[in-house]
Amino acid sequence: MKYGRTYNFSAGPAMMPEDVLEEIAAEVLNYRGSGMSVMEMSHRSQVFQTILDEAKADLRKLMNIPENYKILFVQGGGTVQFAMVPMNLMRSGLACYMETGAWSKKALAEARKYGEVTVSASSADKNFSYIPDCTHVEIPEKADYVYLCENETIHGTTWHTLPEIGSVPLVSDQSSMFLSRPCDVSRYGLIWGGVQKNVGPAGMAVVIIREDLIRDDLPAFVPTYLSYKTHADNDSLYNTPNCWAIYCCGKVFRYLLDNGGLEAQAKRNEEKAAVLYDFLDQSSFFTGAVVKEDRSVMNVPFVTPSKEQDAAVVAAAKAAGFDNLKGHKSVGGLRASIYNAMPKAGVTALVDFLRNYEKTQA
Ligand SMILES: *Cc1c(COP(=O)(O)O)cnc(C)c1O
Repeated sequence: MKYGRTYNFSAGPAMMPEDVLEEIAAEVLNYRGSGMSVMEMSHRSQVFQTILDEAKADLRKLMNIPENYKILFVQGGGTVQFAMVPMNLMRSGLACYMETGAWSKKALAEARKYGEVTVSASSADKNFSYIPDCTHVEIPEKADYVYLCENETIHGTTWHTLPEIGSVPLVSDQSSMFLSRPCDVSRYGLIWGGVQKNVGPAGMAVVIIREDLIRDDLPAFVPTYLSYKTHADNDSLYNTPNCWAIYCCGKVFRYLLDNGGLEAQAKRNEEKAAVLYDFLDQSSFFTGAVVKEDRSVMNVPFVTPSKEQDAAVVAAAKAAGFDNLKGHKSVGGLRASIYNAMPKAGVTALVDFLRNYEKTQA
């Protein structure tokens, strides 16, 4: 790796493409002749407006977002969306949540502050190591939305097939899989993603919302900033946005377009994940933590025979240049997050390291 960078397997904030970081570095003192960096620039300037317009246009192209969906850039990262979704979308007062791990649990706990929450399906019985079968899931017609976390970052599961929920709008937290594969946006009412997992710097979420879900009759307690309508009406410029994050994300959108779009990215991601899963499947020392059909292509949790050995591998890996492999504190073990920007060479090198480590344990 150039510049003494390490293979960083962090679940987030996580790696960004090196080409993008080089472009940002080249523009950091003087953005394209403006005489200033994007960090120093008025969000009302024409030069920033162009950055914002291009970021939105490129994202629309990349995800093939239909005209009747708005793209919003909202501050506060992922956690603010846990509150914004129920505040803005609950009309009847009932929402249905799929409980598949730590992030969907946080989301549903937050939603309970604003209305009634039904857990329509859960994988809590097996420590969230699978995705429940939702082909015949019952969703009350009066429900305002069905919510799921499409990739559970901590547990390493992904909804490879969306649940059958009829006409009730589907809300998806795509934070840790955003832009990792093609997505049929028309199947959702709202998609959101905190950008620090798979796109750019922390502190912002991208929200893609169907226009009919943007309400102007919100309860009075909803803060102005937390109304989707505020952001939609003001082109994400109601107040000073996270200009830097918008700029960096825009670079990544363009980079993905220039590199074959989401289909090509999905292929690269599948190939990378296969290298790691194939190794885990044949290993007698390391074991994957998730059932095969529901495995994430982005976050790969695995364990050794004991907690002590988990910690020893994490330490040895760090010394060998593989950073942030410790599993989340709520789950333990190890976790390799292999987002879009992790090169295949990084995964191959990690697998070589793990294979050699295993040999020393024999
Ligand atoms: C990281 C993460 C969040 C929370 O994001 P913050 O920006 O830290 O608030 C929410 N959902 C998922 C799936 C995540 O991976």
